[in-house]
Amino acid sequence: MLTHLACSLCGKTYDWNQVINTCTCGKPLLAQYDLSPSTLDRKALADREPTMWRYREVLPPCEAISLGEGFTPLHHAPRLGERWYVKDEGVNPTASFKARGMSAAVSMAKHLGVKVVAAPSAGNAAGAMAAYSAKASLEAHVFMPRDTPKAFIVECDYLGAHVNLIDGLINVCGLEVRKFIDSHPSNPPIFDLSTLKEPYRAEGKKTMGYELAEQMQWRLPDAIVYPTGGGTGLVGMWKAFDEMERMGWIGSDRPKMISVQAEGCAPIANAFAKGERFADEFPNAHTSASGLRVPKAIADFIMLDLIRASGGTAITVTDAEMVAATRELSSATGVFAAPEGGATLAAAQKLRDSGFLSSTDTVVLFNTGSGLKYLEAFV
Ligand SMILES: *Cc1c(COP(=O)(O)O)cnc(C)c1O
Ligand SMILES: [Zn+2]
Repeated sequence: MLTHLACSLCGKTYDWNQVINTCTCGKPLLAQYDLSPSTLDRKALADREPTMWRYREVLPPCEAISLGEGFTPLHHAPRLGERWYVKDEGVNPTASFKARGMSAAVSMAKHLGVKVVAAPSAGNAAGAMAAYSAKASLEAHVFMPRDTPKAFIVECDYLGAHVNLIDGLINVCGLEVRKFIDSHPSNPPIFDLSTLKEPYRAEGKKTMGYELAEQMQWRLPDAIVYPTGGGTGLVGMWKAFDEMERMGWIGSDRPKMISVQAEGCAPIANAFAKGERFADEFPNAHTSASGLRVPKAIADFIMLDLIRASGGTAITVTDAEMVAATRELSSATGVFAAPEGGATLAAAQKLRDSGFLSSTDTVVLFNTGSGLKYLEAFV
């Protein structure tokens, strides 16, 4: 049962039954539950619906606005590595794992009486927010960089969202969202659904961690390779592992959490290499993997802490490596991956070559989106 929200940095607590963004200190709020082995017997899952809402006891208590998100396939990929797997998030509604986060966030926003939502996005979050807002009858305003791949822009438009194209990256779009909200006072106010600036997108994304455990018979892999932007996936999965341990579902072993970024936008990898807990804004960010074009992330310290605690690492790949690896991943598995998914293969191969990963390690690569939305990246 959801009990309260707690600040990820200063620990200050808040009532969950209110529309709220960040802590007064400016850092993300995370949902806290009262968890014990009696919360949910994992055996009960077998008969449940194949969506992320099968884990409803550890999700916010609201009516689910669902389009069938989650419970995505985990493909064994022996042509890539003996015990390598691809978790294919590209089959989610709106073709990315952003569906999980937006299903949870829009469901809670609706539950709390919100009427209008807004968010900056590199593409996939906007599409997902537009879709769930359409289903929930909320008005949605998306703010994307002008050079976002066309598929995302058309998708948002057809899903009924108000599309704003901005000359600047996602952080500039975030400032535009603030300006938009401040200049349109209303009751209830327009709610900002930016990554980790509201508590529930991470709750949706954490279901990837639950699913991975369930699909691997409650034995987590040795390593998870994850393309990192704002960090909801890393933060969410790490949280899921902790929650599952508290319910007695898994032990204390954790996968090495491996963050992959583009060489042209690598704030987390840079901070990791420098031993820092907070990341500087990455200057002149550029990469064709739009989901990785996040020069500054509010959850930087949460990611950096968990990567270190897991014995993982943070590395970069070039756009050329990413595109070549997307072709390799796709042709070796049958999953037409997003460039962000390709980035995980390029990174895992580097780490196997360097000996960081051994050839017998069980490795899960996250293909976070569909190649179909990124045709411009694959010329
Ligand atoms: C948003 C996005 C990412 C980054 O995800 P975070 O969980 O915010 O770090 C990676 N890949 C794709 C395809 C995305 O849309
Ligand atoms: Zn705080």
